[in-house]
Amino acid sequence: MLVLRNSRHLDPTGWHSVDLLLDAGRIVALGEDAAAGLGSDVQSVDASGLMVLPGLVNAHLHSNECFERGLYGALPLERWLARAYPPLGSPAVPTRWHRLRTLLCAIDALRSGCVAVQDDFLNPGNEPEALDAVMQAWADSGLRASVATTLGDRPYLDGLPFARELCEPGLAARLDARVALPLADQAAFFESARRQWHGQAQGRLQIMLGPRGPQRCSDALLQQVAALAERLGSRVHMHVLETHTQAVTAAEQGGCFVQRLQRLGLLDRRLTINHAVWLDAAQIDALARAGCQVTHNPLSNLKLGSGIAPLRALLDAGVTVALGSDGPATGDTADMVEVLRCAALLHRAPATPPSQWLGAAEAWSCATTGGAASMGLAAGSGTLAVGAPADLMLLDLRHRAFIPLHDPVAQLVYAGTSEAVHSVIVGGRLLMHGRRILAFDEDAVLDEAREAGERYCAEQLPGKRASGEALDPLLEAVHRRVWSSSAPAGLH
Ligand SMILES: [Zn+2]
Repeated sequence: MLVLRNSRHLDPTGWHSVDLLLDAGRIVALGEDAAAGLGSDVQSVDASGLMVLPGLVNAHLHSNECFERGLYGALPLERWLARAYPPLGSPAVPTRWHRLRTLLCAIDALRSGCVAVQDDFLNPGNEPEALDAVMQAWADSGLRASVATTLGDRPYLDGLPFARELCEPGLAARLDARVALPLADQAAFFESARRQWHGQAQGRLQIMLGPRGPQRCSDALLQQVAALAERLGSRVHMHVLETHTQAVTAAEQGGCFVQRLQRLGLLDRRLTINHAVWLDAAQIDALARAGCQVTHNPLSNLKLGSGIAPLRALLDAGVTVALGSDGPATGDTADMVEVLRCAALLHRAPATPPSQWLGAAEAWSCATTGGAASMGLAAGSGTLAVGAPADLMLLDLRHRAFIPLHDPVAQLVYAGTSEAVHSVIVGGRLLMHGRRILAFDEDAVLDEAREAGERYCAEQLPGKRASGEALDPLLEAVHRRVWSSSAPAGLH
C-alpha cells in the first residue's frame, strides 16, 4: 500500500488538496480524507506542491538504437535504415549491450513521466539471449513493457521499388545471399518468447508480434502472423506506409497495403500501425472500421523527412492514436514530454483552420488513453479514477513552467520539460521519486553504457557506416525514380 498525501487536484469545481490510496496496483481511494485513519506504518509520500496525473505511454520505440542518438543528420528513411540496420549484415552485439541500451531508454521513459512502453526490439536473427536481455532489463526497470519479436522474409531488394532493376548484379547477389529464417522458426521463436515472458514481472511484460513493414513480408508470413494473433490473442505491432517510397512500393507490389492486411486477416483491434503517414481517405476509413490503432511519431517523421501523418483525419474517423518517440536513432530521444510538444505543434499548416489543430489536450489524450489502448492495458489505464491502475506521474507544480499556474497539462506540453516530472509510480510502486530513480542504479547504468558505447563506436560503427554507405548509389537512384513520380492518387 502507498499513500500520496496532499496532492494538488483539479476537478470541474476547482483546485483541491487530496490524498490517493494505492493498493494491489490500483487507486483504491481518492479524496480529501482518503488517508484519514491510516497508521504510520503505511508507506507515505508527501505530494504537497505536486499534481498526480496518469503516466504516459511511449507506444513506439526501438531500444536497440540507443547508442546512435544524434548520429544521422539528414537522411531519408531508406538511407538511414541502410546505416542503422545494414542489409549486408552487422556485427553481433554483446548481450550486455542489449540490457544497457534498454535501460538507457528506461531512464528517458521514467524521467519524462512514462509508465509503459512498446519496444519494437529489432532482432532479425531471432537471437534468444538478446531478447532475454531486453526483457530482463524492462523487468528490472519496473515499467510496463510490450516487446515485439521480429518477423520478415522478403529479400531486401524486393522491399524497395525499382531496386531489382537498378541494382548492379554483384551487389544484388550479395544482398540476396542473406536469407531470412524459415517461417516456422520465426513463429517458434515468437511462441517460445511468449511462453517465457508474456505476463511476467507481475503482469507488466508482454510479448507481441512484430512483422516488419508489409513490403518486407510475404503473404504467407502475414497469414501466419494473423493466425498466431488469433490463436494466442497476441497484439501485432507493424510499420505501415511511413514514407513516399513505401507508398510507391505498395503500388509496385500490386496495390494498397491496408487492403492487403485486411485480405490477410490482420486488420483488427489487435493491430497497431506505426507511422501511417501516407494514407488516403479509404485507408483511414478501413483502419477506423477495423478498430486498429495508429502510433504517431512526430519527431522521427520530421527527422527523416517522411511527411506529416494525417492526424486530424485519423482522429475524426475514430481511429485511436497513440504517441511514440520511435527509436533513438531517428527521434534521438525517448523523452515523451518532447514528443508531446512536437505532436501538439506539428499539425498547424497555414491552410489548416485552427479548429483542426491538435493541441495540448488531444496530444495528452493520445499519450495516455491512446497509448494504453494500443498496448491493451487494463481498463482505466491512462485515467485518474478509483479502480484505475496505479500507473501515475507526479508533476512538480513548483517548476518554473507552472508560474503562474493556468493549465498544468498545457503548460507541461507547451512550456515544460521532463524536469517537471517529480515521481513515477507503476502498479502502485514508486520507481522514481524526487527525480531519483529507485528501480535501478542509474549512475551505474550510465557508467557502464558509456564504456560499452565507446567500444561500440570504435569496434562496430565504422563497419556499419561503410556497409550502409555502400548502398547509397542504389538508394539515391531509387529515390530519384520515386520522387520524379507523383504520389499515388489520393494520398495525403
Ligand atoms: Zn519504428
